[in-house]
Amino acid sequence: MISDALHSIWSELPPGTKLVAISKYHPVSAISEAYACGQRLFGENHVQELIQKVEQLPKDIEWHFTGHLQTNKVKYIVPFISLIHSVDSLKLLREIDKQGKKLGRKVGCLLELHVAAEDSKYGFSPDALISLHSSGELGCLDYVDIRGLMCMATNTDDDMRISSDFSNAKSVFDVLKSRFYSDTPSFCELSMGMSDDYHLALSHGSTIVRIGTRIFGERQY
Ligand SMILES: *Cc1c(COP(=O)(O)O)cnc(C)c1O
Repeated sequence: MISDALHSIWSELPPGTKLVAISKYHPVSAISEAYACGQRLFGENHVQELIQKVEQLPKDIEWHFTGHLQTNKVKYIVPFISLIHSVDSLKLLREIDKQGKKLGRKVGCLLELHVAAEDSKYGFSPDALISLHSSGELGCLDYVDIRGLMCMATNTDDDMRISSDFSNAKSVFDVLKSRFYSDTPSFCELSMGMSDDYHLALSHGSTIVRIGTRIFGERQY
């Protein structure tokens, strides 16, 4: 089942697009099964669960963090994490920079953009992202490598609404790219699209999709 799902998703991804298999709440055995099929990129949402899994799984797995990250837990993941998708405050960026500096390791980050209709989701508004970049505050963060944006669409069955969220996210990405990152080729990632909406996300320029349920089945909380 995991193998079928992975092969079907891989076949749909445009060249250069990445699949993060979101394995939160799924056992190590499920990750091992996906690994055996050739999947090497996995994402988790909780620091403790991530660390326990990392210890039990092969070292050539690339781990992404996709959940809400508390400042006091940054130090536990900075030694190995390859990309943090969900950076939603300057405070968090500063802490990642501080921990990265201690290890002499530049940490890949995406800034989380809030485009969904719900209030409850984390992330910067488009205006807040522009102000953050105009403020000059990012210039001194030498150990943070901002590679793009991450967003979640509104949780709805309305494809029009989802499309409009993704299209807004792509516009914000393009504005930031041209105003602040035109000389930074590594600012190139737009992480959007989950099990139910990744086709729409890909059609709006997503470069990273984050898929859990469609690969591993329903999560057991
Ligand atoms: C859980 C989660 C996903 C995967 O969601 P599915 O609907 O299971 O594909 C993707 N992104 C984030 C940020 C998540 O928390």
